[in-house]
Parts: sequence; structure tokens; C-alpha cells
Amino acid sequence: MPTPRKFLWLMAIFELNEIENNRANKFKKWHKRCRPKNNNDMFPQYAPFQYIFTQTSIGIGVDIICPYCGNKKDITDYNCW
Ligand SMILES: [Zn+2]
Repeated sequence: MPTPRKFLWLMAIFELNEIENNRANKFKKWHKRCRPKNNNDMFPQYAPFQYIFTQTSIGIGVDIICPYCGNKKDITDYNCW
């Protein structure tokens, strides 16, 4: 059995707040027309946007990445840090 502390760490859930969610949606709109470079891609119609959550000592940073063009944007709401 994991210690309670370890268990809590495993259960950590990262969420976007409203501002970050709005920024993510804007980013998705900009990249709506992005398509895979390779037409033989197994899933040409849809690929999920990726989120990277970075834990720092003062808060959690959030980046969103377009799966097609690879563009990355920091959507962190630093006001809530
Ligand atoms: Zn893109």
C-alpha cells in the first residue's frame, strides 16, 4: 500500500481555470485548419491537442501544443499564482 502522501500525489488532478480554458479554445480555433503533414497518417481527421502541465514551486504552468504543426503556447493564468 502506498503511504497516504504518495497516494495523494498519484491522485493529483490538473485543471484549467476559466481564463486558461478560454486561451486554449482560442489556440484551437487558430489551429483549426492545421492538417497532418503526412497523408498516410493513421488518424488524419482528428488528433487531440496536447497539454503540458509543469509543476513549479510557486504554481503550475500550462502549455498547449497543436498536434499537427507542433506550435506551442503558454496559456498559464499567472494571476492566480
Ligand atoms: Zn497547428
